[in-house]
Amino acid sequence: MGSTVITGIGSLVTNDPSIGDGPLGLLSDAAVVVADGRIAWVGPAASAPAADEGFDAGGRAVIPGFVDSHSHLVFAGDRTAEFNARMSGAAYTAGGIRTTVAATRAASDAALDANVARYFAEALRQGTTVLECKSGYGLTVEDEARALRIAGRHTDETTYLGAHVVSPDYADDPAAYVDLVTGPMLDACAPYARWVDVFCERGAFDGDQARAVLTAGAKRGLVPRIHANQLTEGPGVQLAVELGAASADHCTHLSDADVAALAAASGTTVATLLPGAEFSTRAAYPDARRLLDAGATVALSTDCNPGSSFTSSVPFCIAVAVREMGMTPDEALWSATAGGAAALRRTDVGRVAVGARADLALLDAPSHVHLAYRPGVPLVAAVWRGGERAA
Ligand SMILES: [Zn+2]
Repeated sequence: MGSTVITGIGSLVTNDPSIGDGPLGLLSDAAVVVADGRIAWVGPAASAPAADEGFDAGGRAVIPGFVDSHSHLVFAGDRTAEFNARMSGAAYTAGGIRTTVAATRAASDAALDANVARYFAEALRQGTTVLECKSGYGLTVEDEARALRIAGRHTDETTYLGAHVVSPDYADDPAAYVDLVTGPMLDACAPYARWVDVFCERGAFDGDQARAVLTAGAKRGLVPRIHANQLTEGPGVQLAVELGAASADHCTHLSDADVAALAAASGTTVATLLPGAEFSTRAAYPDARRLLDAGATVALSTDCNPGSSFTSSVPFCIAVAVREMGMTPDEALWSATAGGAAALRRTDVGRVAVGARADLALLDAPSHVHLAYRPGVPLVAAVWRGGERAA
């Protein structure tokens, strides 16, 4: 693979304060050289070195590819009717997941794979170059392992979520289901997963069950992350911090002690906010300002799934986070790139610095601020992933 120099970058977000201004490391009139899939040079366009090929950004903005650290894309079926009912007044509960479970179990491997490919491509076109993907719509040993095998064809960031809800097959015996999730199902899934996750919520798994799931996964080398404090205050955030989880996801209903715990754990446990879920369930948004002012590390992600947040668009989440959650445009951009990378414990993505993977998005706009300023407008004009033009 030859080298490419991208010149004419009106505004470059590097997320490296040693390269440019502020936490975003902003550079104007910048250039980037990409070689062998990595960033080889970053600096002022006037001093850019020569390369095999050139690309003129024409004064537009370039940002790191989005790192979307939370999605549920191995599924079949559709929940349009449930969404329609909810927008007509019905409440959201964790139980709707079972609808997708039935459809997913009935689907062929090829159908599931095609669905994952479709949504990954959709996300890529919107600037997402790293996308985590969970199991959790199989809820049998075979179906969960199958989901992770399929997810693993599309991403290295695979998460075992056998503990999404109690399987309908175990409705009368949740304890036996936790034994399955922490036993034979974990044995079957661990080879295909990097992370272990649990939905800690009323109607799903309580604090003791969540602890059992995460500690069993950790013993098998999977790193914990958790669905915490989405619908109600609960033990999820404290459990995440106690176990050193990579992220506590949702964080919509937090006590002062939860906020303090996330702030104290900012180098270890990221607070991942998923505003698509509140949007799609017509619920109150998490308070990003409160977390940021306390010193927590915040990531923004789509939670793309067919039930509670059927968007693959990180730009949409950025716009909502700025409008509704108290984030500045700079904070939202950072959280959707470097924040997502932190939530996946990655240092090779989420920034534009020498040695980082060459994951870049070109915006049809003079600055990243337009992602929130022009909501709903498809601003991503080109995407490079690992140095290759991908969209
Ligand atoms: Zn989720």
